[in-house]
Amino acid sequence: TEIRDLLLSRIRDVADYPEPGVMFKDITPLLADPAAFTALTDALAEIAESTGATKVVGLEARGFILGSPVAVRAGLGFIPVRKAGKLPGATLAQAYDLEYGSAEIEVHAEDLTGGDRVLIVDDVLATGGTAEASVQLIRRAGAEVAGLAVLMELGFLGGRARLEPALDGAPLEAL
Ligand code: IMP
Repeated sequence: TEIRDLLLSRIRDVADYPEPGVMFKDITPLLADPAAFTALTDALAEIAESTGATKVVGLEARGFILGSPVAVRAGLGFIPVRKAGKLPGATLAQAYDLEYGSAEIEVHAEDLTGGDRVLIVDDVLATGGTAEASVQLIRRAGAEVAGLAVLMELGFLGGRARLEPALDGAPLEAL
């Protein structure tokens, strides 16, 4: 489609970053292009509205950049899910495994409530580990997951299949 082509044309492939053998998808050209950034924001806001979301959760760090304007456009609150140790208040934490070692993400517990339906936003779905941990975190905070929306899904890494049980029927939209 037209929007897909526009978005794809603004994503830069960077070979061997951050390590040899990895083809990094760089979204900074898209952010620098107001037509593409606006089209992306509009498409994500439409997903937020169609899923009945009451909050947008953005995953550090590019999920902050994409998720914030979506929240404003859709008239919803924005909640950052951060890497451990960055949030000053009382947090809920969720650990998850990486290829080597593990990582931890956190959210301010009081920002999510029982009635909330959350749309999770990030730039890239790779293995799905980060998104899966954020789904668990949101549920543990007592909120419901309305869906997961990403700019881009790296299909060959199997993130969608991994996430399916965690999402429990909530939609996974990759633009
Ligand atoms: P996952 O947990 O393996 O799905 O990795 C997803 C996280 O890593 C997301 O927060 C992405 O921002 C980041 N990520 C992984 N690969 C890329 C890439 O090629 N470009 C930009 N971000 C990436």
